[in-house]
Amino acid sequence: MFIKPYTKSTHLEAMEMLLKRLSLDHPKHLTVTNQIGTTRAGDIGEEIVFRELENMHLPFKFYAFHKLLLHAEKSFELDFLLITPFGAIILEVKNMIGILEFTENPSQLIQRKETGDINKIPCPAVQLNDYKYQLSQFFNDHNIPIQIFGAVVFASRKSFVKTSTNKAQILYRNEVRPFLRKFQKLPSTVTEQDMEKIKDVLLLSNTPFTHFPLSKHFSIQPKDIIRGVECTRCGYLGMQKRNRTWYCPSCRKNDYSAYKNTVTSYFLLCKDTITNKECREFLLLSNRHEAKRILANSNLTKTGSHKSSVYKLIE
Ligand SMILES: [Zn+2]
Repeated sequence: MFIKPYTKSTHLEAMEMLLKRLSLDHPKHLTVTNQIGTTRAGDIGEEIVFRELENMHLPFKFYAFHKLLLHAEKSFELDFLLITPFGAIILEVKNMIGILEFTENPSQLIQRKETGDINKIPCPAVQLNDYKYQLSQFFNDHNIPIQIFGAVVFASRKSFVKTSTNKAQILYRNEVRPFLRKFQKLPSTVTEQDMEKIKDVLLLSNTPFTHFPLSKHFSIQPKDIIRGVECTRCGYLGMQKRNRTWYCPSCRKNDYSAYKNTVTSYFLLCKDTITNKECREFLLLSNRHEAKRILANSNLTKTGSHKSSVYKLIE
């Protein structure tokens, strides 16, 4: 049973918003584009594994979590964690196509694509073992004695592992179910009560992604972020405020609530607070009262009064 089901990462949506608001010749344009590609591929791989797990009927009770961000010696993020009567099982998902070779000493994963491109990435087996260690520290800190297992899962049908490693269990996606079924042969060491307790501890300890605002995360000057209300139909930045609506000069769409996405973008990209002046600057709005109305309708908390009002997202 999924306690924390798959969700697309907010980070990805925020990076997509950022990219739309960076000029093509901005020095960080390529960095953000590449990171979007990696994150998107990762998300797709995780969604594939999630579908496998979601439709799975195991002969024992289990709790599953997608994307837990926990803290032990350092922060670590688990793609999937299963709590079962036999222990905790981490699944580290990789969505990589082509021929894959694990090398030893030093440990690496080499990817050869059909196009001839070669990538070298840190060994996911080493990464998994580090997560197992971090998770054992985490459970120690919470006085939870539990055995920890794990596997690296290659989610794409187009991945071919030519040379494997003995540092960790390596699986293709169709091997996930048989791998998990095998656990029932082990003695059960986690009671139902323990499972409930562990579930609560994990949910309470999960810390959401905190790399916002993204301009800071990517060291981009907020002034480099292109302003204006984004058209929900054609993506044009710079819709114009007209009486009761926002008008797109590019595709002529009228949308009275078009500002909403742009206010969200402001918080994800620029700053965690907004004043009336900043709102006018970002939405390219001249009317102070109009900005006040928008901020009042944006689900924000307000501190200060009159001209010194500052608005924040409700947490
Ligand atoms: Zn438009």
